[in-house]
Amino acid sequence: MKIKKSIDELKKIKFNVKCPNCGQKIKFKEEIDLEAAFDVPNSVLEKFDSTLFQCECGNEFFGAETEESELIDDLIEVFNELKEEGRVSYENRIFSLDIGVFDGLKYLKRLKDIGDKYDRGDIFE
Ligand SMILES: [Zn+2]
Repeated sequence: MKIKKSIDELKKIKFNVKCPNCGQKIKFKEEIDLEAAFDVPNSVLEKFDSTLFQCECGNEFFGAETEESELIDDLIEVFNELKEEGRVSYENRIFSLDIGVFDGLKYLKRLKDIGDKYDRGDIFE
């Protein structure tokens, strides 16, 4: 199983955060440097955690205060494992994931567990 995604495709993915006060969904609009993120995945979390969100209900909160912060942390852990196993690569503005069926199922299960844990099937839109 080989999955290839260009930086431009990945940039179109929208990421939502839920207001801890009223539950309203707010788009995370900050530009993420995906090339840098490949080398230092934690930079994504740092950027998200330090972003100040303003909700229509008047609530202001940092990304670090949301459960999405933990979710990103969990996703980074999975990404780092894939990277250590040499299954993800980045070249010429293309990210590639190369994974066998057995490992693919293992990782899909991990991702499903993370999704269930946070009850956020709608986090990417
Ligand atoms: Zn709110």
